[in-house]
Amino acid sequence: MGVEVPEKYGGPGSTFFTSMLTIEQIARVCPSLSVMVDVQNTLIVPLISRFGTEEQKQHYLPQLATNMVGSFCLSEPNSGSDAFSLSTRAVKSGSDYMITGSKLWITNADRAGVFLVMANSDPDKGYKGITCFLVDRDTPGLEVGKPENKLGLRASGTCPVNFDQVKVPASAILGELGQGYKLAISLLNEGRIGIAAQMVGLAQGCFEHATRYVLERKQFGQPLFNFQSMQHQVAWCGTQIEAARLLAYNAARLKEAGHPFRKEASMAKYFASEACVPS
Ligand SMILES: Cc1cc2nc3c(=O)[nH]c(=O)nc-3n(C[C@H](O)[C@H](O)[C@H](O)COP(=O)(O)OP(=O)(O)OC[C@H]3O[C@@H](n4cnc5c(N)ncnc54)[C@H](O)[C@@H]3O)c2cc1C
Repeated sequence: MGVEVPEKYGGPGSTFFTSMLTIEQIARVCPSLSVMVDVQNTLIVPLISRFGTEEQKQHYLPQLATNMVGSFCLSEPNSGSDAFSLSTRAVKSGSDYMITGSKLWITNADRAGVFLVMANSDPDKGYKGITCFLVDRDTPGLEVGKPENKLGLRASGTCPVNFDQVKVPASAILGELGQGYKLAISLLNEGRIGIAAQMVGLAQGCFEHATRYVLERKQFGQPLFNFQSMQHQVAWCGTQIEAARLLAYNAARLKEAGHPFRKEASMAKYFASEACVPS
């Protein structure tokens, strides 16, 4: 669960590329579990590893590498694509902050032990007032709603999370006050590669089921695969998946080498998603 968590915090200290391979291989068998692993490894762990204080890292990373999942709380009923128009507020109260607002479609929320919550602590500054807070599940005022009844990824909990005057200390701020936008944007770019890896794995799993079937199923005295029109379809699907995989791996390679990768990550996510649902 914490592929990149350094060994000194109890993780394997592996690489971003390994996370992508893990996400891909799990998606081949169970896309729901893959989403859980993806959010954990492309959002939660990197955010805490990169922006956390030493105390926050020592507290959360060993748990995230072993027995706890986290949730990333950005979207709200009225802010989806326009994520940074969010209306959850964090109001300073003495040395604490009081968080109030509603988040929607939060992956892993049904099981998460920690929530990374984007809330605006200075609305006059617009998106520059957004701050990321680490909120533990048992904090009074935090309530997780019923998982959505989705069409797909049904074993992955996607839930509303409500915050009613949730009191957190200033030490719960991840990064700096007003840095939430920067944190989210930097990670959402890498997150696109994770989604691409999920899609490649899912498509590969479907492809393996489908090819097995056309090899086994006999009509007109022979396996369906023997008919050339069927071979064309199998070849087309296999090529789409391989192209999607190479786009995803290339974006991961660039990211890991410290090169710009935003365009390549977007292309990988787009192409791999389309490859999953050919029209
Ligand atoms: C399975 C699942 C898990 C999720 N997990 C999380 C999570 O863990 N944490 C979290 O914070 N959020 C999560 N989300 C929320 C997700 O980030 C939002 O669904 C996404 O940002 C889109 O927002 P929306 O659903 O409100 O759609 P809207 O923003 O309302 O978009 C509706 C439609 O309008 C289109 N559209 C929007 N803006 C434009 C534009 N400028 N130009 C053209 N078309 C446009 C969109 O492409 C879409 O087709 C999850 C969603 C799903 C489905």
